[in-house]
Amino acid sequence: MITPIDSFDPINFRHFLHQYPELSQHERQTADVINQQLRQFGLVPKADLGGHGIVVEFDSKNPGETSLFRADFDALPIHENACHHYASRHSGIMHACGHDGHTASLMMVAKYLCTHPPVTGRVLLLFQPAEETGSGATAMLQEPWLAQQHIDNVFAYHNLPGYPLNTVVIKPNTFACASTGVIIELFGKTSHAAKPENGVAPTYAMMETIKLIQQLPEQFPDVFALTTVVHASLGETAQGKATFGTAPGYAKVLATLRSDSSETLLMMKSLIEQQIAAQCQQEQLGLKVSWQEWFNAAVNSQPHCQQVIHQARRLGLPVNIVEEPMRWSEDVAEFLAKWPGAMFCLGSGEQHPQLHNPDYDFPDALIATASQLFCALIEEKHGNMSDMPID
Ligand SMILES: [Zn+2]
Ligand SMILES: [Zn+2]
Repeated sequence: MITPIDSFDPINFRHFLHQYPELSQHERQTADVINQQLRQFGLVPKADLGGHGIVVEFDSKNPGETSLFRADFDALPIHENACHHYASRHSGIMHACGHDGHTASLMMVAKYLCTHPPVTGRVLLLFQPAEETGSGATAMLQEPWLAQQHIDNVFAYHNLPGYPLNTVVIKPNTFACASTGVIIELFGKTSHAAKPENGVAPTYAMMETIKLIQQLPEQFPDVFALTTVVHASLGETAQGKATFGTAPGYAKVLATLRSDSSETLLMMKSLIEQQIAAQCQQEQLGLKVSWQEWFNAAVNSQPHCQQVIHQARRLGLPVNIVEEPMRWSEDVAEFLAKWPGAMFCLGSGEQHPQLHNPDYDFPDALIATASQLFCALIEEKHGNMSDMPID
């Protein structure tokens, strides 16, 4: 599916990626396809950055700003319910978040830059793995070459069902929430169900844990804070059958915590740790708390938001400046914490299936919209505006 530059079609490219989705940190084949397509364009990308990450650089050799455009390319452990010809060929894995489309959009920008290279400064196109698990951006930033770059502008987008097609959705400051998963395990001692006093059951502590998690947002009335208990289990079952003769000695609670500020999320984390530890000590229960998939809040700079809005309006795209941040998280946050920039969304259509649904598919029309908006930002910062092919 690697094609010469003249015959490169980003929609075909997206459909090809869609057929071979790979899970976070296992995107070897996808990274190879991206790398080979860039090489086919005559470019020399840097590969294997922080795992399967790729960066390709366009250097004008003239002074000026450095801009970084980022797309993600991992898929999800969801079984696709497809009604199109390019359905996933990897059973149980699908591009249910549209990262195939984000990647195809950035590849289109690469094609554009081959014929319209920057006149000033440098443009970096960054293809990031492992976004869904919140580990890819951090891993790439551990590469000294990337970490040492001085970047003036970071831009990225995500498609967004529920909003009209092609609408630019953006806000300054926090755009996507900070979030984390937590696994809380309570260890007591089983006993005969007829003699529960001989054991240590974590039943009450588990209920208190759930209550604490659910009431936690009330302690932060001035900010956005949300907790969701996603799983809870108590006691043992033997091959799925209830063990009526045994009083429980173990409980497990899983929850997701969110906030529009990383600082609030840190406070929520330490409150949970302190209060559950106190509860367990009181009841002589063992405790293990593990935090997983930590995402910082993705924070947009005001000027970069304005630049996106300005170019979107120039292209005639509808713009929706939202009041509330997206409740989901995006690990572009790591780039935006290091360098200033803006992430925005492009509406996928009001009736479009939601992200991570088995019937979701990236809307191909967004490839042109996103790449034109990225190219407009590049022309504004690095080029000659009279060159614009999209006017
Ligand atoms: Zn996703
Ligand atoms: Zn996504």
